[in-house]
Amino acid sequence: MSKIRTRIAPSPTGNLHVGTARAALFNELYARKQGGEFVVRIEDTDKTRSLRKYEKTIMEGLKWLGLSWDEGPDIGGETGPYRQSERGNIYGQAIQKLLDSGQAFNEEGSDVIKLKVKAQEVEFEDLVRGKVTVHSDTWGGDFVIARALNDPVFHLAVVVDDDAMRISHVIRGEDHLTNTARHILIQRALGYDSPRYGHLPLLLDERRRKLSKRTGETSLLAYRDEGFLPEAMMNYLALLGWNPGDNQEIFSHEELIKVFTLEKVQKGGAIFSRTKLVSVNKEYMKTMNPTELWQRARPFFGTEAVKLDDEYMAKAIATEQTRVGTLSEMPEALAMFAPDWMADYDPSLLVWRKSDARQTQEHLSRLVEQLEKTAGEDYTEEELDKNIITWIDDNGWGKGDVLWPLRVALTGRENSPGPFEVASVLGKKESLRRIGLALDLFNS
Ligand code: GLU
Repeated sequence: MSKIRTRIAPSPTGNLHVGTARAALFNELYARKQGGEFVVRIEDTDKTRSLRKYEKTIMEGLKWLGLSWDEGPDIGGETGPYRQSERGNIYGQAIQKLLDSGQAFNEEGSDVIKLKVKAQEVEFEDLVRGKVTVHSDTWGGDFVIARALNDPVFHLAVVVDDDAMRISHVIRGEDHLTNTARHILIQRALGYDSPRYGHLPLLLDERRRKLSKRTGETSLLAYRDEGFLPEAMMNYLALLGWNPGDNQEIFSHEELIKVFTLEKVQKGGAIFSRTKLVSVNKEYMKTMNPTELWQRARPFFGTEAVKLDDEYMAKAIATEQTRVGTLSEMPEALAMFAPDWMADYDPSLLVWRKSDARQTQEHLSRLVEQLEKTAGEDYTEEELDKNIITWIDDNGWGKGDVLWPLRVALTGRENSPGPFEVASVLGKKESLRRIGLALDLFNS
């Protein structure tokens, strides 16, 4: 059997669509699993709409996602060039051959070149959908393959390229089903072997409409810019129309290569759920090493980032990483760890339930003494916990009466990680400064 070779063939007429990214992933997984090869080809036959800037962002998107390819416009390869605009006269030759053999003709009046099609059923065995039959009436029989000898349309170019690049499997969206029937007719006319086809279910939004810009974000890189991790994005894309048949949902790239099969791709539409994507992203953030997570989150802190100490920020991130949904939420979630943090909350927030301002001030002042006396500069959460809880108990106070104002003093927030966790990141000096600020608020 010939070598497994798959491809993704994006048209550079817009940003990399999440549907194209999913198709790229499935093609890559399919090839990798079987020791085959994966090719990237840029389909820029549409000269007016194809733009280099889109090609650039498409390639950037595929790289960001973590895919790798064996041949492509950036790395070359033996079946290149990888832009249709640079592949020379191979399309013209194929068109000429079809004209010479009488299988194609110049339409009178318009001069476009059409493939002659007898009314017929075109049948093929789809790797996802099983036997598929499309009648040539679906697209009206004869169809345009070129606007001129040197100006092929998509249908012709794709067939010529897939053959020249020895593509064995074409895995693409279900929206190409009737195109596939046309492509098979061109292949027959040119005497080519047809590759195997597998059509992926359409991506739908949460209301089961075709996923579109109007109802959700479809640009892959917009998800990067929003702070989704590429490994989470890849994982989520893999689940769009495929599942391993058990409950596992978190897969590394390596694991996906091991378990991916086209048999487990579903026929029905695949729902793109942002909520689900966030939950997958959270799973990745939760388990990521805080030092690495900080490096990933850093760009989202903008110019502030230079002021932040890496070790300190890794510790800070560890307190929030199980709560935050995306990297872009990090600056807001970690605002309380800013070295120049100022107390700008209402002092009434410091008072716990049945306690009052006087008692709260008393507790905070005593806490200052206790911390100065007993805590080392880099105390751990556990040391602090033991020390302070015993001290509260010894004084016969209610825990909330002391811990609530402490937590608010340290964070300025109603909701935050626990006070000892936060204090251990801030360190003794900064914690004392913040308790001092809280006491000042009462007096101002
Ligand atoms: N250029 C086509 C597209 O972007 C690719 C279709 C195919 O995979 O054959 O939809």
